[in-house]
Formats: sequence, C-alpha cells, structure tokens
Amino acid sequence: MNLYNTLSRTEEPFVPADGRTVRLYNCGLTVYARGHVGNFRTFVAIDVLRRTLRYLEGYEVQQVTNFTDVDDKTIAAAAAADEPLRAYTDRYVAAFGEDAAVLGLEPVEANPRATDDENMRAMVEMIEALEARGHTYRSEGSVYFRIASLPSYGQLARLDHEGMQAGARVDSDEYAKQDARDFVLWKASKPGEPSWDLGLGPGRPGWHIECSAMALRLLGQPPIDIHGGGIDLIFPHHENEIAQAEGATGVPFVRCWFHVEFLNFDSEKMSKSIGNVFTVPEIVARGFRGSTLRYLLMSVHYRKQLTFSWEILEQAEAAMTRLSDFVARLGRVTGPAAAVELSARLDRARAEFREAMTDDLNVPRALSVVFDLLREVNGAIDAGTLGAPDAAAVQETFAWFDQVLGVLSLRRAEDEQPPVPVEEIEQLIEERRAARQSRNFARADEIRKDLDARGIVLEDSPTGTRWKRK
Ligand code: AMP
Ligand code: ZN
Repeated sequence: MNLYNTLSRTEEPFVPADGRTVRLYNCGLTVYARGHVGNFRTFVAIDVLRRTLRYLEGYEVQQVTNFTDVDDKTIAAAAAADEPLRAYTDRYVAAFGEDAAVLGLEPVEANPRATDDENMRAMVEMIEALEARGHTYRSEGSVYFRIASLPSYGQLARLDHEGMQAGARVDSDEYAKQDARDFVLWKASKPGEPSWDLGLGPGRPGWHIECSAMALRLLGQPPIDIHGGGIDLIFPHHENEIAQAEGATGVPFVRCWFHVEFLNFDSEKMSKSIGNVFTVPEIVARGFRGSTLRYLLMSVHYRKQLTFSWEILEQAEAAMTRLSDFVARLGRVTGPAAAVELSARLDRARAEFREAMTDDLNVPRALSVVFDLLREVNGAIDAGTLGAPDAAAVQETFAWFDQVLGVLSLRRAEDEQPPVPVEEIEQLIEERRAARQSRNFARADEIRKDLDARGIVLEDSPTGTRWKRK
C-alpha cells in the first residue's frame, strides 16, 4: 500500500521490514483527564490504518499504544485532587478503555503505562546509554539531552539548528538548560512530587523518553515500521523521540511516521487547554451513537482538518442509518438468484475499495464506492431483479468492507443492547398487535409513543412489525 511518510513528506510504498509483521507504535493518551473526541480522531485513524494492514494487506500487526501517566499535567491534576498519582490516572485509563470500545477500536497488543516498573527501568537504561554516548549533561539533579551532540536533529520537523535557537516552541520541561533547544530526560524531583530512584538520582522521566523507551522495549530492534500520533506531536515530541532512540542505539528509530490532522471545533484545535472539548459520553448523552461518531471521525481524510459540529454529526447519523437500513433490507430479500453479472460487480467494488484504502487510507473515496454499490443494489431490489442468494453475496461484500470501516458491526452490537431490553420490546409489540386486533387503537398508539420516547421506533409492514433504535 501507499502511505504518506512525514519523514520524507511523500507517499511511499509501505511494506513491513520483515515482510510479515507491522511493528506499530502510537502515542496514547495523557491520562490527566478523560480523552476528548479530538484525541479519538487520531485513535480512530490509527485503528483504520491497523485494520487496513490486517484485513486488506494481510499483515500481522504488533501495536503498542501507551498511557502517559506521569508528566507535569498528571502530577498537577492528581495533586489538585489530593490523590496518589497512580490511583488518579487509573480512572482515566479505565475511561479510555470504555470510550475505545464505544468507538469500536480493536484492542491492541500492548497498552504500557509509563510508571510500570519495567518501563521505568527501560527509560533509565536508555538515558544511561545516551550518557555513555555523550549526548547528555547533568544540571541541578536533572539530566538533559544536548541537541548540539546530534547533527541529524531536526530531520522530522525539518528544522535547521540555527532557526531553532530563539523563539521556537520549546518544551515546558524547562529547568537549568545550557541551551534553550535542549530537553530534559530525567527531572530532579521537587518536594511532594512522585519520584523514582533507579540510578539517576531521585526524579521522574521527561515525557519524550517515555515513548522511545516503551516503543523499543515492546517492539524490539529499531527501526520499527510505523510510529503515529496527531500532527501536534511532530515537534518537539517526535523529534525528541528520534533523538533519544537514535542517540542511544545509533540506528534509525522509525521507518514511516504517520500523523493525523486536527479535529477542530469553532475553528480552533479541539484541546483541553482551550476548553472546547467534548468527550465520548457527552456525545452519547446527546443521543448519538458510537458508530455514528466513528463514522464521522473517519469520513474525512486523515491528513485534512475536520471541523466538528452537531450538523455534521447529524449527517453522519443519516449516512449510518442508510447503511444499516440497507443491510437490514438485504436480509429481507426473497426469491431465487436473479441479478445479472452481480459477482463481477461485487468484485469491482472490492477492488475499488481496496484501491482507495491502500492509497494512503482514502476513506472518503472508499465510502463513495460503498454508497455507489448501495444505490445500485437498492435499485435492483426495487426493480425485483435481486434474489435472496444475490442479497447474501452483497451482504458478504458489505461485511468485508466493514472489517476495515468497523461501523456496521458496531451498530449491530449497539442494537443488541438497545435502551429497552429486547424481550420487553417484543412483548410490547405483541401487546400492541393484540390491542389493534381488538380495535383498541388508543392503547396501540400509546405503546408506540412510549417506545419512541425511549429510543425505539416501530415500523409496520405487511409481514409484521419491526423495531429499530432511533
Ligand atoms: P494527549 O493526551 O494530549 O497526549 O494526546 C493524545 C493524542 O491525541 C495525540 O496523538 C495527539 O496528537 C492527539 N490529539 C490531541 N488533540 C487532537 C485534536 N484536536 N485532533 C486530533 N488529534 C488530537
Ligand atoms: Zn509519544
């Protein structure tokens, strides 16, 4: 497949180094608060990448998504809540798991936390390797990375050493640095802060070292195949990850850098610090489903900005309803095979879908392939030229699309857990049928309205009454 690589600023053919298993790392959530849907735009895009690699390219994927559970923000938030750091961050680690499930993210192979013992040790070892290779200095109990020691610094963000001097955005991790560009590897502990003493003096890791160390500990020898995150991480975070890993090992860190554009709200990046955020439960509380939000987040190409609004969420809901109604309609088609050249048409749709997705994950184009087919098949059903075996073949094709899109299966799982228990819905449908039969239309109407208020819509047809979620 072709994938845009931030390192080369071009689309390149992507094949894992060993031809079989993609070793993928992506920066996970900083667990000082519940993740917002901006964060989840990036996680959904990486999930779509993962699924494309697995189901269309046939690779195995070894994916690591970390939790940053120690940094300035987590420490400050835990202190403000008067809780131990680990207990405080546990809550948001759990919340991430809930939101990831609502959005249909495939579980990944490892979710390391920075404060896990083995990760802390890996960070300290990496810092010691950097010291041994002359990339560090110590000052007031902290250890810093000396950027001047690594001539290749700036390769990802395309910085030149001169231009970086003044005014460049530098780390918030500033203590006693010799050069404004340098960044902290190990921060001397301040009174009252959590600290670890593993040979570098009491302190805690800088944010950047967490990722380099966990990526290499869990994915093995560099270079790893893909490293991903939102575009705000290119500099300084990912640049510094490269400096640390390459400084410590002497070999390239990552073959392909994958960066996802922002989700905006009110023409600004959605971010906790601006305060313009929505969480997944907040969106669900407004009556939207996880499948709809997932659809919205992936429907714009990952390298284009996406502006969140309730209107486009409504549009995503309309598209999702069309898709799921269509699949349900296929299940009701009867009669013998009737479609002409259906299998060639389905093969073409699969080929076009594959072509779009393997062209740097062009989800909008893939969705147009899906909807073109949907429209044609609907026409064939209307015209009576589609039989049950044909419908089954179309259903199979949609299930194949959905391995990558992950919205129809999610919708089905949501339907299986409707806001009203299925037995109760079925009982009420039966009661309503009986009421209508005895011409008690007031009661029948009342049942329909009550269910509607609880999020269940009834649809009558010659073959009986069906229900669906609103
Ligand atoms: P953080 O919790 O801030 O470390 O961010 C977790 C992930 O979400 C990182 O990959 C960020 O780049 C990404 N991210 C944060 N805000 C946004 C946004 N508004 N749109 C897309 N990705 C974002
Ligand atoms: Zn990271």
